[in-house]
Amino acid sequence: MKKVYLETYGCQMNEYDSELVKAILKKPDFEFTNSADKADVVLLNTCSIRENANRKVYNRISQIQQKRNGNGVRIGILGCMATNFRKQLLDNPQLPIDFIAGPDSYKRLPDLIDQVEETGEKGFDITLSEFETYSDVYPTRESGINAWIAVMRGCNNFCTFCVVPYTRGRERSRSPINVVEEVERLSAEGFRQITLLGQNVNSYNFEGKDFAYLLQKVSAVDGIERIRFSSPHPKDFPRNLLEVIVENPKVCKQIHLPLQAGNDRILKMMNRTYTSTEYLKLVDKIRGLCPEMVLTTDIIVGFPTETDQDFEDTYKVMEQVEYDSSFIFKYSERPQTIASRKLPDDISDQKKKERIVRLNELQKEISYKKNRSHIGQIHEVLIEQESTKKSANQYQGRNDGNKIVIIPKGTYRKGQFVNVKITEATPHVLKGTVVDTILK
Ligand code: SAM
Ligand code: SF4
Repeated sequence: MKKVYLETYGCQMNEYDSELVKAILKKPDFEFTNSADKADVVLLNTCSIRENANRKVYNRISQIQQKRNGNGVRIGILGCMATNFRKQLLDNPQLPIDFIAGPDSYKRLPDLIDQVEETGEKGFDITLSEFETYSDVYPTRESGINAWIAVMRGCNNFCTFCVVPYTRGRERSRSPINVVEEVERLSAEGFRQITLLGQNVNSYNFEGKDFAYLLQKVSAVDGIERIRFSSPHPKDFPRNLLEVIVENPKVCKQIHLPLQAGNDRILKMMNRTYTSTEYLKLVDKIRGLCPEMVLTTDIIVGFPTETDQDFEDTYKVMEQVEYDSSFIFKYSERPQTIASRKLPDDISDQKKKERIVRLNELQKEISYKKNRSHIGQIHEVLIEQESTKKSANQYQGRNDGNKIVIIPKGTYRKGQFVNVKITEATPHVLKGTVVDTILK
């Protein structure tokens, strides 16, 4: 039996993929360990979305190499870096990498590991599939409150800055029957919330069954009380989908709506397929249907040619929408992408940093204002875990809008729903006291 240690970098989809890998590398041949020092095989499930994600992985490889020099540990690189940097990873004699496997090749891992053992030769499989959805693999999850479930994989959008279509291939969706079966099993195992995942989750389509249909089907599963999804694209919000999100009580009232930029020239160069006016119209439509909808976003600053004036347009959209929270990134040139081939990365790091700081400051102000407006309200909270902040006497959970809410521990338990009166707010969390428990 080989001992395997697995470390995950990047997004929720990668966390989910690691759960798939754990299910594929099964006993009696493989056993997972929590310590890299005790492992025969070290797997790094990697992310390639920005350069700093890559750097982390290279640093980690050299750390493992130094610690285990001469010990014969096998090192495998999985995920997006494998498909994006095959040559650099395998042909560099300085790097002690034995095999690599892309996001559609995890079922080949047992063979790849055996092959390295038997022949001592490096192995790789980075084939991107138009069909692989792993619908026949039931991921090995830690028991808990929330379960991730990938309902589609890949992306066809080719935003010019983004490497995902190259590292994860074309869009493909799982059948709704298969997804519902998995959700039923999750419910039987005690999960209370599921998060449907996909690189462009709301373009889910299986033989004409769309994402609105899938949400309805999944919400009919008893025991699952909250449904979230990530990450949608603003172009795929037809009215019927918005109505399901607004009207179905199990679908959380929170939408992540990546803006990326607020200037139309930049949006066009990014190939986002919407203008700022169209985006703002969508926001109005959502708020018209559901004024309390929590909106969050992703923004990239310093895309090639972005002038100070262009950046101000992004700033203005942020001021106008008043997102509850946002992820703001410095543009990072990625190999293979259209932007890397056609547009020099011409905005200085200093400028990108200044723009990030300004947007983060604006977001902090808005988040604080929004969070303070909840003081005195009653929010339904699903208790998730001990508070990650100092006190051992507190639990943290999330309200429907996905905001963290801190409560005194009392006699409550994880997985329970409680009504909480909000008494305090910071830009990042809400705090409150439980007024009653909810039977669900
Ligand atoms: N599919 C989602 C969408 O359409 O917005 C996003 C998926 S991507 C994993 C998450 C975020 O990373 C993107 O929304 C974008 O803001 C950011 N991102 C992607 N490529 C980037 C790049 N080259 N440089 C900086 N940020 C990037
Ligand atoms: Fe990347 Fe655009 Fe696809 Fe999102 S929609 S994964 S940003 S190409």
